[in-house]
Amino acid sequence: MSPDAIVIGGGCAGFAAATALAEAGARVVVLEARPGLGGRATAFTDPATGARVDNGQHILMGCYTETLKFLARIGAADRVRWQTGLKLTMIDRAGHQSVLALPALPSPLHFIAGVLTWDALSWSERISVLRIGSMITAAAAAPSALRRDPPGLGRSVRAWLEQNGQAPRLCELFWEPLALAALNQSIDQAEASNFVRVLERVFGPDPAAAALVLPAVPLDEMYAEPARQWLAERGGEVRVNAPAKLVVDGARVRGVRVRDEAIDAPLVISTVPWHSFDALFDQVPPGLEQTVANATALASLPIVTVNLWFDGAVMDEPLVGLPGRNFQWIFDRRAIVGGNASHLSLVSSGAEAIVSQTNDELAATALREVRDALPAARSATLRKSLAVREKRSTFSLAPGAPPRPGTRTAIEGFLLAGDWIETGLPATIESAVISGHRAAAAS
Ligand SMILES: Cc1cc2nc3c(=O)[nH]c(=O)nc-3n(C[C@H](O)[C@H](O)[C@H](O)COP(=O)(O)OP(=O)(O)OC[C@H]3O[C@@H](n4cnc5c(N)ncnc54)[C@H](O)[C@@H]3O)c2cc1C
Repeated sequence: MSPDAIVIGGGCAGFAAATALAEAGARVVVLEARPGLGGRATAFTDPATGARVDNGQHILMGCYTETLKFLARIGAADRVRWQTGLKLTMIDRAGHQSVLALPALPSPLHFIAGVLTWDALSWSERISVLRIGSMITAAAAAPSALRRDPPGLGRSVRAWLEQNGQAPRLCELFWEPLALAALNQSIDQAEASNFVRVLERVFGPDPAAAALVLPAVPLDEMYAEPARQWLAERGGEVRVNAPAKLVVDGARVRGVRVRDEAIDAPLVISTVPWHSFDALFDQVPPGLEQTVANATALASLPIVTVNLWFDGAVMDEPLVGLPGRNFQWIFDRRAIVGGNASHLSLVSSGAEAIVSQTNDELAATALREVRDALPAARSATLRKSLAVREKRSTFSLAPGAPPRPGTRTAIEGFLLAGDWIETGLPATIESAVISGHRAAAAS
């Protein structure tokens, strides 16, 4: 029997779309080209130790409302752990440790109190952060005004910060690690309006929006496996090793082809990333040429993660920020997902400068930065290291980047989803899930 809908891609966008359709009663088939599920938010088994390792530490936030709705739908809300508010320990290049903590107060008092009590900054620096903060909270309260004249449009994040009186030290200590985590692109390249939209969501009216929400299990177990099971219980099917090609009939979709097998369906949702969009077509159907050209022209940005296993505990917090270094964040995987091993994950966002280093070089840089920042790591023995390079983690948000497409296409019955669809958000799980939900709603 032909399915009601085919979803191409088994990542966040694909499972968000497929489960939303199945919730409305559709019989859905999800096709994933790779042998494993999860796309860019996944985990793999380290052949040397058998340990499950994420392809890179992911952070969700309280403002990921569509993602949290998706996790609740598939019964996986307990697979993430909430921090009660934003609490970040930062260790600067001189080794000075400070804590930025937003207390449980109504917005914007939580932001004001957090910044005013952050002793890493001088008083004048705290006041200049608050100046931007008040602009963001005002904009968040009046989003339509913001849309008419979005702050930072056409300007880099750094130029926008300078224009708003943020000193270089303040950029290094506070804004750069935040912007890199949010945009995965240097503050000299990324367009500031993208950053402003993120800040608006994080520091908007609901103080819970700023809470960190960390996956409490390996990433694919957080959502892909529960979603697969949930779909199977509702008559759906998830196939791996199934690279799909679109089949159209005039200006209407007919279904897909997986190698020699044809699968017909009145609705096909693509969630493939921008860099593999053109491979969906043997011949680009009329009306999709510009979308394919824009997708192909969108640049990709890397994230490098180095996992280090020590012979004993080396940190007390689940995560620590390292402003001004190659690896901007250290995560204690034992505190986040449990287990017995002292396993740290160091994340380098916007990692063009180090992505082509060898594994040994990456491990040496990561170890040096951990030992610089964490005294307990100096006497601990490194047992093992494992570098993961995701060269196409996210897409560029530089001024002049090609426009992102909408949900609908010129082909009837063929819809687009994926984090790179125009959601107003950078490449994130939340953008992917929003796009998947939109495609399901548009069907
Ligand atoms: C290292 C790293 C760290 C990150 N950190 C964060 C973070 O902290 N917070 C956050 O929110 N986001 C983070 N992200 C981004 C987040 O992972 C992505 O935005 C999100 O997973 C994208 O989901 P997606 O479904 O749109 O695309 P994908 O996950 O790329 O899924 C698309 C799927 O389509 C499949 N596919 C492609 N072509 C075909 C075909 N022809 N047929 C069938 N299947 C096909 C692919 O194999 C893939 O599985 C990070 C990403 C990486 C790589």
